[in-house]
Amino acid sequence: MPELPEVETIKEDLRELVVGSRIEEVEVLDAALVEQPSPEEFVRLSKGTSITGARRRAKHLILELDNGMNLVFQLKIGGQLLLVPPVEEPTTALMLLLYLNEDRRLFLRDGTGFSRVRLLGETELEERLSPLGPEPLEDGFDARYLRQKLGSRRAQIKSLLLDQKAVSGIGNIYVDEILYDARIHPRRKADTLSEEDWEALHAAIRANLAAGVEHRGTTVRLYRDVLGCPGEHQNYLRVFEKHGKPCPGCGGTVVREKVAGRPTHFCPACQRIPQDESFEGEQRLK
Ligand SMILES: [Zn+2]
Repeated sequence: MPELPEVETIKEDLRELVVGSRIEEVEVLDAALVEQPSPEEFVRLSKGTSITGARRRAKHLILELDNGMNLVFQLKIGGQLLLVPPVEEPTTALMLLLYLNEDRRLFLRDGTGFSRVRLLGETELEERLSPLGPEPLEDGFDARYLRQKLGSRRAQIKSLLLDQKAVSGIGNIYVDEILYDARIHPRRKADTLSEEDWEALHAAIRANLAAGVEHRGTTVRLYRDVLGCPGEHQNYLRVFEKHGKPCPGCGGTVVREKVAGRPTHFCPACQRIPQDESFEGEQRLK
């Protein structure tokens, strides 16, 4: 699933390869893709425009058009934006085709079908983005913010980090790596974290997302960049889908359990849970 580093990589690619292009024709192959406005209006309003900019907010990818509208993509689980024809896939996975000048085409392919797109004016876009939490790689995101925002919550830290209203851009791959780095058990309740824990968590969020961007994203299964190439950060994962394998820190075994409703990977030796809390957690599971 594209998280902050993957969407950031796609955005940078689009900035380089697609900004400045004109959208000559728009073909919606799966009407479920278009959330807003109607598919017909979507085609009418985007056709004939030029792409003037590309930006990212949380996991939203935004193409700015010269008519003042914004094409807002959410690639959800398996969405891919490709400038190369996805010939190897059944065409049923194609949801949208943008015909650009100079005979180029931008494909939105998603075998899972969950990708969504909206065409929004500036005010509608601001309204849509305003509930999102801060960008973790930007200035102003610090350990103090995290502690103030989440430090009194009783919920499990993993589910809070996945809440886009608290911090934006973190999904199920990076959250496991972040908690591993910070040596925090994913089931810890936020209100039990110490000052040092919040500092470690903040540093781990920054380090993992920045490394993901540097490595052009993580390809576990579906993620590809705009030219169809996988990322490289999967080669740097320590716990995500490493269950049964040795922990690179202590040599113990990485485990997989369901936390916050999601498959969760961690090292029980490196990420300990204080005794009293774990007892309560066990009881609740029964
Ligand atoms: Zn370990």
